[in-house]
Amino acid sequence: MKGINKKNKTTKSDEYIEIFGAREHNLKDVDVKIPRNQLVVITGLSGSGKSSLAFDTIYAEGQRRYIETFSSYARQFIGGLERPDVDKINGLSPVISIEQKTVNKNPRSTVGTITEIYDFLRLLYARASIAYSYVTNEKMVRYSDAQIIELISEKYLGKTITLLSPLVKGRKGHYRELFEQVARKGFLRVRVDGSSEKIKHRMQVDRYKTHDIELIIDRLTVENVSAKRLKQSILTALKEGKGQLMLLEDDEKTVRFFSRSLMCPTSGVSYDEPAPNLFSFNSPYGACRKCNGLGEVREVDEKKIIPDPKLSIKKGGLAPLGEYKKNWVFKQIELLGEKYGFNLNTPLEEISKETINVILYGTNEQLEIKSDTLGITQSFNISFEGVSNILKDQFDDGSSQNYQRWASAFMNKVPCTECEGSRLKKEALYFRFDDRNIAEIAAMEISEIHKWLEGVETRISEKQNKIASEVVKEIRGRLQFLLDVGIEYLTLNRSSRTLSGGEAQRIRLATQIGSQLTGVLYILD
Ligand SMILES: [Zn+2]
Repeated sequence: MKGINKKNKTTKSDEYIEIFGAREHNLKDVDVKIPRNQLVVITGLSGSGKSSLAFDTIYAEGQRRYIETFSSYARQFIGGLERPDVDKINGLSPVISIEQKTVNKNPRSTVGTITEIYDFLRLLYARASIAYSYVTNEKMVRYSDAQIIELISEKYLGKTITLLSPLVKGRKGHYRELFEQVARKGFLRVRVDGSSEKIKHRMQVDRYKTHDIELIIDRLTVENVSAKRLKQSILTALKEGKGQLMLLEDDEKTVRFFSRSLMCPTSGVSYDEPAPNLFSFNSPYGACRKCNGLGEVREVDEKKIIPDPKLSIKKGGLAPLGEYKKNWVFKQIELLGEKYGFNLNTPLEEISKETINVILYGTNEQLEIKSDTLGITQSFNISFEGVSNILKDQFDDGSSQNYQRWASAFMNKVPCTECEGSRLKKEALYFRFDDRNIAEIAAMEISEIHKWLEGVETRISEKQNKIASEVVKEIRGRLQFLLDVGIEYLTLNRSSRTLSGGEAQRIRLATQIGSQLTGVLYILD
């Protein structure tokens, strides 16, 4: 081993870490002094004992002493650590090891989540972003009651308007109880799917259709003298609409929405107040519903189901089913063949494309199956769901890991079409800070994000600045650490599974520096 001072003399322990008689593994009773507060490199041939000294002696002893400080109650869960084979170590600080092991096999872990930068971005977007409607791309608005009253009495002065409370938006149901409820409160009219109706006794709508239902609160001409009535009706409409109000103009057919929470003024689409978990693909509040926040979905690959079209079904041409067995699926395909003109000995390449589609994706046509059990002949009508759908069901079901593994062998991972790989649900992507949504930031290289944040203060509003400045400072600091360790080319959405050992180590080092502990001994490999 080179690079280490090998004198055996006791010095002050705040200058050196002193190790006496290290014999772990192949170490031959080594005494060393390692200067503190410096970057010290241990070099040597493979097998010369570098790791035995750094990890198995210094790190192990540091860990052991740390755990010794725990109560015996806590220690029984962690388990005691064995003392490394060494006579004495002086001047040891708390030890943290940062190894080159790949960080995290979890598909939900990204550079952004392990560096915590994404957590701060979520906070930034929850607090200081601007919401836009995903229907019209208009800025979402939120008003106080007083603002709503003022806006309506100014904008609609002299006009006749109807004030309504939205009760049901695009949902199925017969809503009998709802009509009863509002009738009991003394309301007389509702608007059902765009047309005004008097509330009748035992009124209900088609339960299998989706409906829009609003309660009609008042119809009035906005004049100064009617200020009191207008105000009263607006407040009633907001109360019945749970904070939302819909306004219909008599002459034009335009609809306008006003709300105490974020709402698109044209379409009436509303968002909940943004919280950090709206921007988390690891939370049900933020994750894309199609891919559950993974950004990719599994799709059945036809080429994997039929790897060799020269084979017949009997000879195992449908790979997931294997060679012919006497079972239900083969029985169904056989019946399918009677209908579509093939049999189990027909090579798959001789079966028409349309028929292959039926084999893979099923048919709703009824197949008649005669069952001859116990001497009674019965016939059943069944429909075939298709080999591809059988695989998909097994995979999505997830109750058996074996079936899931079997099914996944015939599937490919493809980017999710719903979120385009961003992992987030649609509305989360319509919150923008300095004109960018959080997924766009996560897709930028670390150096680009750093550049983007430079001077961001001059591009956002004063109010945004006030809320955002602390969080932006925190993000900048962490980005700087990542730049310092030379991984400026990584993006925050990069899955940590795909990082090299060295990249993972640098990230952990940067995160450690970011945690601002002092007097810590770091051991790296
Ligand atoms: Zn998705």
